[in-house]
Amino acid sequence: MLDGAAIARQIRLELQDRVAAFTTVQGRPPGLGIVLVGEDPSSEIYVRNKLKAAGESGLRADLRRLPATASLHDLLDVVTTLNGSPIHDGILVQSPLPAALGRDAEQVVFDAVDQLKDVDGFHPENVGRLVQKRPYLVACTPLGVMELLARSGIAVDGARAVVIGRSDIVGKPVSLLLMHRNATVTICHSRTRNLPELCASADILVAAIGRAAFVTPDFIKPGAVVIDVGINRVTDAGLVQRLFPEGSQRRADFERRGSLVVGDVHPAVADVAGALTPVPGGIGPLTIAMLLANTLKAAEARCSASR
Ligand code: NDP
Repeated sequence: MLDGAAIARQIRLELQDRVAAFTTVQGRPPGLGIVLVGEDPSSEIYVRNKLKAAGESGLRADLRRLPATASLHDLLDVVTTLNGSPIHDGILVQSPLPAALGRDAEQVVFDAVDQLKDVDGFHPENVGRLVQKRPYLVACTPLGVMELLARSGIAVDGARAVVIGRSDIVGKPVSLLLMHRNATVTICHSRTRNLPELCASADILVAAIGRAAFVTPDFIKPGAVVIDVGINRVTDAGLVQRLFPEGSQRRADFERRGSLVVGDVHPAVADVAGALTPVPGGIGPLTIAMLLANTLKAAEARCSASR
């Protein structure tokens, strides 16, 4: 098991000195503005974890809440205010946005965030820079995947990597980052034919699908490195019983809470893979650590540019 939580703790520890130095020189900590629209329960948890992690690492983090009934105009007003705020170096608009804001709302909002404060790496300028291999701020989850591979001593150069998922948030940027590190990358999606066979050719398999336990042992080349990005809340007792043996901790957790977070990778993959990230405790904590790293990077860059 690749212990993402331990690696994330280490990264956060390493950031502390830089955060302290920034705070001393600037007379204020690096600042992150988080915008949350509506009351999506998963988003509430993600935002709470981000605020807590930022506080623990000495950053300032402020939450701007808008009701689910807010208009796109209201949301853009908040983004504009944060763009102009001298104490906020990073801006994060938590997705998903309420469907009532319209299909293109997320892109409109990500486009409106100041690219120098775009700690999620979703602004087209930052995406373009990543494509051209001169990245500035890169999406946190893909960065977390790369950091985990690097710190776990997993060779990427020359490796055959298969990524399942082509989203702007995970699949596409992680594929680019792997390619820039000289992996030979295949990107798969819902229309891919012969998915298990393609995946079984991978030295490194990244699953970013959003389907619980979708990747089964027949997808895996023995000894391969498997990175499970998926976060799926399961409430189906039958599925939990099929995935986890009687008497296991996971079953007990499910019985206590009535739900369980599982990844895109089936637990039986652990018997075939050479290395595997757990869910929870894998890529999730690294995503938060990279958000803090991006905020500090944006803060340092803004302050050195204004000197
Ligand atoms: P999206 O829904 O945006 O993308 C899912 C991708 O999976 C799409 O490209 C889709 O293909 C592909 N896919 C869906 N079904 C299949 C299938 N049957 N076979 C092959 N490919 C399929 O999801 P995200 O990228 O935003 O997130 C993916 C997962 O990662 C989710 O579980 C999410 O919760 C999790 N996540 C975790 C984070 C973390 O911090 N650990 C951060 C962000 C996301 P197509 O394009 O053809 O529709």
